[in-house]
Amino acid sequence: MSLVTVLLKSILTHRIPGQVVVQITDRCNARCPQCGMRVTESFARSTLDTDAIKKMIDAAAGRGVQAISFTGGEPLLDVPRLVELIRHAGAAGIPYIRTGTNGFMFARPEKKGFESRIARMADQLADTPLRNFWISLDSAVDCVHEGMRGFPGVVAGIGRALPLFHRAGIYPAVNLGINRNVGGDATRHLTRADAGSDSACLDTFYSRYRKAFERFYQRAVDLGFTMANACYPMSIDVPEGQRGLSAVYAATTVADIVRFTRPEKRMLFKALTAAIRSFRSRIRIFSPLCALESLVRQYSDGTSPIPAYGCRGGVDFFFINAADGHTYPCGYRGNEDFGALWDVDPGRLTPPAEADACRQCDWECFRDPSALFGPLLEAAANPLGLIRRMAATPGALAAWAGDLSYYRACGFFNGRQSPDYRKLRRF
Ligand code: SF4
Ligand code: SF4
Repeated sequence: MSLVTVLLKSILTHRIPGQVVVQITDRCNARCPQCGMRVTESFARSTLDTDAIKKMIDAAAGRGVQAISFTGGEPLLDVPRLVELIRHAGAAGIPYIRTGTNGFMFARPEKKGFESRIARMADQLADTPLRNFWISLDSAVDCVHEGMRGFPGVVAGIGRALPLFHRAGIYPAVNLGINRNVGGDATRHLTRADAGSDSACLDTFYSRYRKAFERFYQRAVDLGFTMANACYPMSIDVPEGQRGLSAVYAATTVADIVRFTRPEKRMLFKALTAAIRSFRSRIRIFSPLCALESLVRQYSDGTSPIPAYGCRGGVDFFFINAADGHTYPCGYRGNEDFGALWDVDPGRLTPPAEADACRQCDWECFRDPSALFGPLLEAAANPLGLIRRMAATPGALAAWAGDLSYYRACGFFNGRQSPDYRKLRRF
């Protein structure tokens, strides 16, 4: 489907292209302090049955779902099975297929046979319709990331692996899970800012994180990445008065390392926006500025009259949980079990009124595309509302149009194509 067709279809149907995130397993071999699935956690692990996943893929494709992510746990614990699932999704007609890794296979790159082993794996993945492949990196400081994951030497290994992937025709995206260690000691030891903090404290928070994000993107470029994504903090504390969340995806957490107060989030998203602006010409960065700016407004208590666009989780986007194989609106709303995916018909789900739509977390997988498609849906359903929004949030339309233009220059983040730096230079 061409982009114009996708946009027209969205406007006419008031829906956006469907996305399903399938947690194929909750097994993992990493030690990430922020995650309930780390290897040191003791709970009954689950891996979804391959045939059951294929049935889900067929059901998703039959309902017009355009994007599927295979996540974990660690998806690459079983590469042949993953390859089989990616091929199945491609054959079923799903064009946007993503998966990724915590990078365990890149640890200890000095070991004999590293390059041939990684080249073989890259070739295996390249021989599928996989579109995007992510590799996690949680800090601008190599030893901090390696300590968090528990993989010695993994950052140098990523640097050695990237040319092998590029040669095979895959351009991996670095995936930053935002946390308090992103800048090493510079961010880790900051005093927590809260509603009572003075502006000097918030300014320090902003400048430390801005530097940390810039250092992160520079490290990604130096390692050879050509694409980057940022997972906004996956904490689940909810302001009073909102529906309670119950995590079904154990990567969501209440751990301090990914918990930020509302004033901190405002500064965090501002800092990320500024860092992205200065790196967009050097590396393809998924995170849309229109989404980040609306999160800044969302966390600017009471100063924005217009809320961010509501999330399409549970309407156009869904999460499949490895433990029971059931469908949920997302990884956070574990109280809303939709059952088997083949019994869910998104076309028959009634989207809530925009004012009642969910905005309870910042999960970028669902929030970013919701923000990108928001103006289109609003233009079709409530043109006056769109005019009011644009008047109340000067610059929002320009940020959105700039994102579309940037996405175009990035070849819509096709991870099977090298970047065109001539086009990126404009940004
Ligand atoms: S964040 Fe990912 S890599 Fe780290 S423990 Fe959790 S599932 Fe594993
Ligand atoms: S904002 Fe989206 S991802 Fe977050 S809880 Fe709501 S539906 Fe789920």
